[in-house]
Amino acid sequence: MITVAHTFVATVSAIIHCGAKPILVDVRNDYNMDPDQVERAITPKTKALLPVHLNGRVCEMDRIMALADKYELVVIEDAAQALGATYKGKKTGSFGIAGCFSFYPFKVLGGFGDGGAITTNDPDVARMASLLRYNGEDRETGEYHYHGYTALLDNVQAAVLDVKLRYLPQWIEYRRKIAACYRQGLEGIAELQLPHFSEKHHFDIFQNYVIKTKERDRLREHLKAQGVETLVHWPKPMWRHQGLALEDPHLPETERICEEVISLPMSAETTQEQVEITVQCIREFFAQ
Ligand SMILES: *Cc1c(COP(=O)(O)O)cnc(C)c1O
Repeated sequence: MITVAHTFVATVSAIIHCGAKPILVDVRNDYNMDPDQVERAITPKTKALLPVHLNGRVCEMDRIMALADKYELVVIEDAAQALGATYKGKKTGSFGIAGCFSFYPFKVLGGFGDGGAITTNDPDVARMASLLRYNGEDRETGEYHYHGYTALLDNVQAAVLDVKLRYLPQWIEYRRKIAACYRQGLEGIAELQLPHFSEKHHFDIFQNYVIKTKERDRLREHLKAQGVETLVHWPKPMWRHQGLALEDPHLPETERICEEVISLPMSAETTQEQVEITVQCIREFFAQ
């Protein structure tokens, strides 16, 4: 299965757990799967493509789906960071045979603990996923069809998510507004790359607001000293974690990203005032 190295480890672990071999490719400027590299990585052994819609932006799905057609591959979307994002008006989770979503509290639609969902329009996948989450048991007949998991969305999580789901559209609009404020405040700083890419076909939901700069570590220290918390997704390429036993795929863009990205405060609770403070600190830093 072909996926990107610049993703959360769970994407790759899922491939390992199903007994497949992860083939890691590089991402482009917008942090998403590079279709050219995918095509170069395809061999007769390739079975599936696993694009990751990172930071709330959809991959270039026209080209990825065309590759899947051409080489007869299955597409599964890791949409954990992109609930509600669209590409050419089509929502994440509706391109491939299945889409995977996360309700981990940090995500745009977060539960009170862990949870997730799968979308599919394939009845066989739907049935298998339903059975797997309850140890493979068909609860009407008592027959076990698979060695499954204990992976039900529990009732408390479901209740919390049911209420929060109603607010999702307005939270997405709010995140886009916060992103626009960052853009307005930070545009024009030559040393910074802002996460505003082509919007012709994309509706981004800004799960994260990721900026890129060669001064990342010093900028981060500066922000920390001013009381602004930031995160780095991720500080070390996945294949450098020895326990994961992955080959070094030599992906220069992924390596650079690990050294240069920083995620600014971004959530439905982030206030415009907090954005202004963050912007001011960053401007101050680059003015020095
Ligand atoms: C959060 C996340 C996951 C995992 O989601 P869980 O709900 O923790 O299993 C997978 N992929 C990406 C890109 C994520 O951000």
